[in-house]
Amino acid sequence: MEADGDIKTMPTGFRCGLCNVNVPNMSSLEQHVKGRKHKTLSTVRAARKSQEERSVFVAGIKPEVSQTDVAEYFQQFGPVSDVIMDKDKGVYAIVHFSETASIQAALSSVEHQLKGLKLRVKPREKKDFKLIPKKKNDSQNLQQVLDRLTPQLCHLLTVNAQMQYIVEQCQLGENEKKARSLLVQLLQEVFVEFFPDSEILPFGSSVNTFGIHSCDLDLFLDLENTKVFQARAKSTTDQAREGMSDDGRSEDSILSDIDLSTATPAEVLDLVAAILTRCVPSVHKVHVVSSARLPVVKFHHRELNLQGDITINNRLAVRNTRFLQLCSGMDDRLRPLVYTIRYWAKQKQLAGNPSGAGPLLNNYALTLLIIFYLQKCDPPVLPTVDQLKDMACEEEECVIEGWNCTFPSQPIAVPPSKNTQVLCTLLAGFFSFYANFDFASSVISVREGCALPITDFLQQNKQEVMEEEQPNKTHQHNPKLGPLNVLDPFELSHNVAGNLNERSQRSFQRECQEAEKYCRSLQYQRKSSKGKSWGLVRLLTPHGEVQHTKTEQLTISIPFKSALLPEAMRNKLHMAGDGFRMLWFRKVCSAVRGVFSGVLHCHLMSSTDAAVGEDSALEEAEQKETPSASLNTSINDSCDSVESSNETSPLGTAVGAKRPHSSGSDASASPQSKKPRFPKRGKPEFPLWIFVQKHVVWAGRRKVRRELIKDTDSRAEGSCMELESQVTAHIIEKEPELKEPLEFKVQPQLVSGTESTRVVVKLEPTSDKTGVFQDFYHFLEALLPKMVETLLEKEEGDT
Ligand code: ATP
Ligand code: MG
Repeated sequence: MEADGDIKTMPTGFRCGLCNVNVPNMSSLEQHVKGRKHKTLSTVRAARKSQEERSVFVAGIKPEVSQTDVAEYFQQFGPVSDVIMDKDKGVYAIVHFSETASIQAALSSVEHQLKGLKLRVKPREKKDFKLIPKKKNDSQNLQQVLDRLTPQLCHLLTVNAQMQYIVEQCQLGENEKKARSLLVQLLQEVFVEFFPDSEILPFGSSVNTFGIHSCDLDLFLDLENTKVFQARAKSTTDQAREGMSDDGRSEDSILSDIDLSTATPAEVLDLVAAILTRCVPSVHKVHVVSSARLPVVKFHHRELNLQGDITINNRLAVRNTRFLQLCSGMDDRLRPLVYTIRYWAKQKQLAGNPSGAGPLLNNYALTLLIIFYLQKCDPPVLPTVDQLKDMACEEEECVIEGWNCTFPSQPIAVPPSKNTQVLCTLLAGFFSFYANFDFASSVISVREGCALPITDFLQQNKQEVMEEEQPNKTHQHNPKLGPLNVLDPFELSHNVAGNLNERSQRSFQRECQEAEKYCRSLQYQRKSSKGKSWGLVRLLTPHGEVQHTKTEQLTISIPFKSALLPEAMRNKLHMAGDGFRMLWFRKVCSAVRGVFSGVLHCHLMSSTDAAVGEDSALEEAEQKETPSASLNTSINDSCDSVESSNETSPLGTAVGAKRPHSSGSDASASPQSKKPRFPKRGKPEFPLWIFVQKHVVWAGRRKVRRELIKDTDSRAEGSCMELESQVTAHIIEKEPELKEPLEFKVQPQLVSGTESTRVVVKLEPTSDKTGVFQDFYHFLEALLPKMVETLLEKEEGDT
């Protein structure tokens, strides 16, 4: 590979030292190396290197010597292309020659004298080219606060006091709030000039009672009244229009350029951006992000060092901000919990997507997870949104975009909670709750205060119930399901955690498990008499600073992604009820085996296939898993032999592994509290295959693929079984055999229970004399999950 000096093999992939990035496998590495960042940096580095090779360092200069003096002097050794002087001190210069040979001439001269000064000429020092990461100004303020926090937390007497202290230190101060509200006022005055009767409303953390220093300022520009104004103006006579121009809303108003009833959000936001740039002092870095779920204009306020976001069509966000304010007012324990958990999530790199987009939890989703946990405590700390709706009076009724957003306007309308748990216990309970939560089979509903079975959402057209509840809603659709599903309390078709990927969901649960363990220790509960870290301090240690003792296994994870499954299969899984995991596992096993045998042409040496992997077994599973069969399967009827077989399983969390009970939750209401159920069938062991491969079938596939399809818009790797199989055949035919064949074990295992449902394929070389297994593994990391997806689709198409 080109520039291979920059690439290092790591236990979990590769690292590019030039760009400071890690990539998980060979194919992403190839993409990275061809990418813009890597190419630009390589070019810059090459230019710098070539410059270094053609320049000399000159010391002994005094401020009175000019750049021209230096250039003229060094011309005698060869053409000079540039002279860089240290302006401030006037003591050194770097002289660039056009030709490398000039350097030798300059260096070999015994003495250099210029304007009576004795110059010292040296070769340039060879410096390593390093990418200097940009400083994140926005978080500096908060970071300083956080840095000071640790020693002070250690001195406090209880975890409760520590949590309250975090609130005091991180919350927005009165002056910060005032500055924000002045800016809102200023923006209001400016915008109303251009959009008559418009209103600018803050929402999000600046006003939801959970704001921290340097949090962004989220604003909603409400143009409803402007639309009415515009419609009225349009229908009036010419004379009336002329009259309007008298009151300052003239034709040269920016509004006259745009019809709000037909303009696209992007067009309106372009205008908003123009107004911000031209008319609001201190505002800079204005840009429109139209690709976001809700297009937004971003800006920065220089004096306040504040990041602002303006959205339109975002009335629901203003309402859900009111909801968070209400929750905060209902129970004093919510704020310390939210601040502490937000801080913990930030330290563990679980939340906070720097540019707004990314695979991590955002603070809104995290806060809803906390609220949900508090609804599930026994007795509940917070009521459900449905209960709140019933506590509201008639004037408080509110429907936005067809969604019922009714709740009382004042916390006083809500009876206080009977739960008396202290903060320290509630915090530990939060970690325990999510450490043991079955994310794979649940959709969290803060509205109903329970975890809904994911199988309810696997069917495409299950709308009747929701339509009954939301009679005004005309465009119902199911939420985008992912590895972590949290329904918005009001917009019930929106998964607020839909941006998360498998990895971020797993990290969240793993960190909850770590925290749960720690919260059981004395170190969490009792202040150290020797002044050591205790309580929150260790819990809030940044990610990466805690030593993990677990060794990395060579495994590839195939997550259960219901949204990506073909519709027919989704329906079958839905029919299988709680048995859906086993049915899905069987299909994945069959596909995994298909990838090794059919796609990569590995020779199967031995196989213990148990009851999975064979077509007949798949059919059998499908026939047996009728809805009535699965409904009749009692919890006690679950496949005990699966559980017992897993006691010897190398992965502790394989299906059926016993889960600790979650604390403080209503166990009967949430699916995660049930044992996973599997129908009795055949032998329960996971399959184990030993394969042999004699060729390096993972190298150069892209090139072969391109040649085979002779097409410019080549298909993505793993998207077509026949093609991938042909690619393998081609490599086997053309490339020489390995000196010694690679022999390896493949064992898929179904993992669920304490973690989300997925198949973990364990890989282990049994004979790898040529040392190629790591490369093969990195290749499989990308190909296997994608190819399995393709094969699952194909299987559905074929049946
Ligand atoms: P911070 O800005 O400190 O990260 P925040 O609560 O302001 O916290 P943002 O991500 O800025 O979080 O979101 C601002 C508001 O936008 C939220 O309070 C919520 O009303 C709305 N919002 C954010 N993310 C979502 C989402 N995924 N789905 C629905 N509404 C969201
Ligand atoms: Mg915000």
